[in-house]
Amino acid sequence: MSAFSLGKLLVLQERDRKRLLFEQQLKAVPQEVAAVEARIAAEKSAIETAKAEWHGLEAKKKTLETEIKSAEEKIDKYKNQQMQVRKNDEYQALTHEIATVQAVIGKLEEEEIGIMLRIDEAKAKFKTAEAELKNNISGHEGKIRALRERGAHLEADVKDAQATVVAARGEVAEPTLRVYDRIAIKPGHPVCVAIVGAKCGGCHLKVPTHIEVQARAEHELTTCDQCGRIVFLEK
Ligand SMILES: [Zn+2]
Repeated sequence: MSAFSLGKLLVLQERDRKRLLFEQQLKAVPQEVAAVEARIAAEKSAIETAKAEWHGLEAKKKTLETEIKSAEEKIDKYKNQQMQVRKNDEYQALTHEIATVQAVIGKLEEEEIGIMLRIDEAKAKFKTAEAELKNNISGHEGKIRALRERGAHLEADVKDAQATVVAARGEVAEPTLRVYDRIAIKPGHPVCVAIVGAKCGGCHLKVPTHIEVQARAEHELTTCDQCGRIVFLEK
């Protein structure tokens, strides 16, 4: 296997291209699964956030109701006292106290109405978030299942592709393989490129005539003097 064979090298490159494609697709699967899982998590977290907001507002409403109730009890107490006082100025003082507490109650009730409106909004937000997850979850889960299946298929594809690459490498001479492997690392694939219009298909720079002549002959491995890729002429 010392004779240079462009055909066998191109077979290797084509098989390597397929192997790399499968490997790339396989590598992307966990990332795609993670992206779907992140969407599920985001939708769940939106529900939790909305629920926490809603419950927080309910708690605030309860606090306000307690405050209103104790203020009303205060008024009752003042009114009872009013029935017992004899002096007019004491009576007036209590009337003033009652008015003050009533003003406070008015403010608290106003605040309570505001909270109730916000509770309605928060409830709606919670229900929307819940509906969204409910609508999407089976789609999300289906997508994850499909991705995992795809991953399993790709694993088999990668194995097959790797085996075909090994077979193709067996057909290529060692020195050629060494050059091929070095180019595959840097500058990377494609390793073999066609010369088109006297230009290298890899770096697109002009190829000197002697290189083009050598490549056309296909007797030996020919590389681009600029990027180092293996060059050939398409027939
Ligand atoms: Zn080049």
